[in-house]
Amino acid sequence: MSVILDHMQWDVARWGHDAVTSSARAHLKALRAAIESGESVALDLSIIQQTIRDGLTDASQPALKSVFNLTGIVLHSNLGRANLADAAIDAMNRVAGGANNLEYDLERGQRGDRDSHIESLICELTGAEAATVVNNNAAAVLLTLNTLALGKKVPVSRGELVEIGGSFRVPDIMGRSGCSLVEVGTTNRTHLKDYANAIDSDTALLMRVHTSNYRIEGFTNTVPEPELAALAEQSKIPFVVDMGCGNLIDLKALGLPHEATARQTLEQGAHLVLFSGDKLLGGPQAGVIAGRSDLVASIKQNPLKRALRLDKVTLAALEATLQLYRNPDKLASTLPTLRLLTRTEADIREQAHRLAPNVTAKLGDQYRVETVSVSSQIGSGALPVEVLPSAALSIKAVNGGDEPLRSLAERLRQLPKPVIGRLHNGAVLLDLRCLEPIHEDAFIEQLAELTQ
Ligand SMILES: *Cc1c(COP(=O)(O)O)cnc(C)c1O
Repeated sequence: MSVILDHMQWDVARWGHDAVTSSARAHLKALRAAIESGESVALDLSIIQQTIRDGLTDASQPALKSVFNLTGIVLHSNLGRANLADAAIDAMNRVAGGANNLEYDLERGQRGDRDSHIESLICELTGAEAATVVNNNAAAVLLTLNTLALGKKVPVSRGELVEIGGSFRVPDIMGRSGCSLVEVGTTNRTHLKDYANAIDSDTALLMRVHTSNYRIEGFTNTVPEPELAALAEQSKIPFVVDMGCGNLIDLKALGLPHEATARQTLEQGAHLVLFSGDKLLGGPQAGVIAGRSDLVASIKQNPLKRALRLDKVTLAALEATLQLYRNPDKLASTLPTLRLLTRTEADIREQAHRLAPNVTAKLGDQYRVETVSVSSQIGSGALPVEVLPSAALSIKAVNGGDEPLRSLAERLRQLPKPVIGRLHNGAVLLDLRCLEPIHEDAFIEQLAELTQ
């Protein structure tokens, strides 16, 4: 061991003594095992040292990497959802490395409230009286129900008992928050009288859950929000809407499908709206609770709030993202989520034509590359049915068969910045909607590293 380490002073200085010795031990153990099993191994000191060095370099690579999301799903839950705006990234940098006024009132020189930095901005953008923020929308639902409905009943339409990504199921989260779900209506039709019949003295509130990732079509009925709000008022209980994606602007004006805004939902009579920060809103992972001030005040006082609160870095990013909404006309350029969602098919197709020859050159003659029309999705349960016309590079193996394609998809995932596409109908499809032109060169260049 000491013979090996004698010649690795640089590595010891770089990685630390313990890391180098444990990597060396692991390698020697593997060598011994190989020798015992009769394999022929090269016992060359410099090769052994290089192998140990490679192991140390591998171990220092970040596990969380940036990737090219060419799946065609803009807000991809497995790929980190919304890409943050430059302004949000700058804000995170500003507060990350030093002290800040997170919970300090600079005017009065005393302890402050971390929500204060963001509450008035949320109120301005949604028309709410008060607001608070937590770790994500699942936390917003949990905290709201735990505060307002602990030990009591909450009627929810059977058509709205959603599951989002497997780990968020409305019935489960209701159970964990300590209230009991009362299912009303049927899967396809729920009427006002279903809710009215379900309300008794044990009912805490009425809740509507946005059916984010599916749509029930055909013979259906849902109760309009103003009617639910009126019923809640009459029964002296709050009406809470879990909006899911959290839209703040008129998406139609940007050529996107319509989605109700938080302001409209509050105007329709919701007493509280709950939504995500990193879906359509385009910010960091967060959950916003906005609405009537007495309800928000009691939510803030719940001891669970402490367990679910936002940290300074996320708060800074959320504030900077919301600031961008003060100038909605510029959002399609300042906010990456909307910038990607509003890219036209013609623009993406032109990019595909531009890139196809380069990709062909890098892949070699075993593969054929062409530009095809595809449909991108918004993702993350926002506007589940609507798709956006887009263009993709379709890569097929000249000799056919699934194996060369699976191998290509795997090698694309092994690149320094992994490329994630999808396999569809005998082709690897790379939907270019989320490849911003400034990242094109980096995308093409690293294809040279594709292992054969
Ligand atoms: C996405 C979603 C949630 C969960 O939000 P997260 O921010 O992912 O925790 C809850 N409810 C609805 C309706 C949703 O669409």
